[in-house]
Amino acid sequence: MNSLVTLPDELLNLVKLDNMGYSHVDAAAEATANGTPYLKEPGVALLARSQSSLGGFRPFLEGFSPDLRFPEYLDDPGLLEPGAQLCKAAGQLCYASFGPKRTHNADAGRYFANIRSSGHGSVLEHASFSFLLYGVSRSVTHEVVRHRAGMAYSQISQRYVSGRVLRFVERPEYQNDPELHRQFERRIDRAAADYESVANHLLALQKDGLETLSGDAATDRRKKVQQAARSLLPNETEAPLVMTGNARSLRHFIEMRGNSHAEVEIRRLALRMYLCLSVIEPDLFGDYVVSKEADGLWSVLTDTPKV
Ligand SMILES: Cc1cc2nc3c(=O)[nH]c(=O)nc-3n(C[C@H](O)[C@H](O)[C@H](O)COP(=O)(O)OP(=O)(O)OC[C@H]3O[C@@H](n4cnc5c(N)ncnc54)[C@H](O)[C@@H]3O)c2cc1C
Repeated sequence: MNSLVTLPDELLNLVKLDNMGYSHVDAAAEATANGTPYLKEPGVALLARSQSSLGGFRPFLEGFSPDLRFPEYLDDPGLLEPGAQLCKAAGQLCYASFGPKRTHNADAGRYFANIRSSGHGSVLEHASFSFLLYGVSRSVTHEVVRHRAGMAYSQISQRYVSGRVLRFVERPEYQNDPELHRQFERRIDRAAADYESVANHLLALQKDGLETLSGDAATDRRKKVQQAARSLLPNETEAPLVMTGNARSLRHFIEMRGNSHAEVEIRRLALRMYLCLSVIEPDLFGDYVVSKEADGLWSVLTDTPKV
């Protein structure tokens, strides 16, 4: 873990690193007595991050007057994480800040603080990160995908996949209340059974030749059944997705969704995404402060929002 970020142990212990050094916060699936699977919290796994190599800068820097000593830029002994290095080099290109008086990597913290306070946020768009998000309900992903600028999404298709991969998400409010928990389990058992029953009925109609369910290929025919059967699925159905964002758009997401005004499930998601990002790219995400609110949940806050 990167030592630049100070996080409470309770949060730091949630984050694991895989053998590539990519961060993840895991979530385990459980099942009702009838075998209907569900999750109680969001799982977040970093799948990809920007890499950078500044070697290609050399012919460019060597093309200027030797008096400027621009090639020394590449001998900076300070090592930055790849996203921060990429954004810093891109930002320093703007003012041709390659000479000896430039801000060196050792002062990257100050460099990025200036970027944030001056609102020069486009520099942060160069570094991007892709996440697998699971254990997230359809209602929370409807909120997630409202974030448009700088984001890309690929989400499970309820038309394409069958009831065999149906899982559900239990809200935190239900988890410690025996009655609400019992109702949740009963509800998702019923939803899974209803889905199967409706899909089977639709399949029978399709076999009988019902026109609206007809299709040339098997995939088409399956979609026609599943697109109808999904209508009964509740908001608490799991809707996993891969989400890619750049550092600027992810910062905005964390700020909007990681604070106490946001909905509980998306707050827990934003917190986990923030944890994964801050431990691997502290210069890009290390300015945030986490604090426990009166409702027992963590908020993620910064003095320089929406760069
Ligand atoms: C607590 C909370 C409650 C909410 N309640 C509701 C609700 O009741 N109903 C509802 O519909 N939504 C609601 N939302 C969603 C909210 O309105 C936004 O759609 C969502 O938060 C995405 O924010 P955004 O547009 O800033 O993000 P992005 O789409 O990621 O955009 C980032 C930024 O880029 C700029 N931008 C992006 N697109 C454009 C554009 N087309 N034109 C100009 N500038 C652009 C803006 O500066 C924007 O802030 C709520 C959000 C929160 C956090």
